[in-house]
Amino acid sequence: MHLVTYRKDVDCAARLGAVVGDLVVDLERLGTRSGRPLPPSMQAFIELGPEAVRGTSAMLAGYGHDFPPDVARPLHNVELLAPITRPRKNIFAVGLNYVDPDAGAAKGMPDKPVYFTKPPTTVVGPEGAIRHDQAITRQLDWEVEMAVIIGTRARGVPAPEALRYVFGYSLIVDITARDCMRSGQLLYAKGLDSYAPFGPAIVTADEIADPHDLELSLAVNGATKQSSSTRYMYFKVDTLISDLSQGMTLEPGDIIATGTPGGIGARRSPQEWLWPGDVVDAHLEGVGSLHSPVIAV
Ligand code: MG
Repeated sequence: MHLVTYRKDVDCAARLGAVVGDLVVDLERLGTRSGRPLPPSMQAFIELGPEAVRGTSAMLAGYGHDFPPDVARPLHNVELLAPITRPRKNIFAVGLNYVDPDAGAAKGMPDKPVYFTKPPTTVVGPEGAIRHDQAITRQLDWEVEMAVIIGTRARGVPAPEALRYVFGYSLIVDITARDCMRSGQLLYAKGLDSYAPFGPAIVTADEIADPHDLELSLAVNGATKQSSSTRYMYFKVDTLISDLSQGMTLEPGDIIATGTPGGIGARRSPQEWLWPGDVVDAHLEGVGSLHSPVIAV
């Protein structure tokens, strides 16, 4: 399933939907009609567990493309929000996680994954604006990343079993104010409001045959800056979940941003930064695209 959070108008409440063709299906309403109670929010749906995912998927398939009119509406008539509009805890994020495919070796990679986090208030939707405050930063950078959404409570999980704990996959742009690092600490530089465009959907794990074989890319003002594949991730998803879960409980709805490939602004020659008026377009194969204008605040 391609699951989204959407609203049909700015004054309407956010709803949980499944994208079927060019329609978005209201899962709570469809559940009521089908005798299968479903919640109106993504977080609550994830917490129902894997059996609810399978049952909902089967229920949707049973309708084909023929939904009652009060249950489905054209996708282009709704506003997509971040799939989880307000994560319950900080987003886990991984630094330094892609190897250069031309170099071939894992030269300079750390022995263990390097983590930082981004507060829930960093999250904006698939067309949400990235806020640029020139009083705070003049080195605003981009990082396209596959995001992993945890589906099942995980603690002390061995790597060979770790993918079973994944609810689905999504896309995050890890925005960073490079000149706001403090003694090497990343929380402030990566934690400001709007620094995590997220979406447009969470694609359930059963629909992603191999999370380590997805193309991902990012363009600024239409010019491609990053273009790679998740196959070049150094610490794979199973390793990250296993490593984090040793001593730290991962919970349904937790988000892991898995790191970014080459092509970020800081490593370009000369360096490049985002400015108000720029537009960032990010894409992850099988998941979709984000379209994020940069605005002055
Ligand atoms: Mg990053």
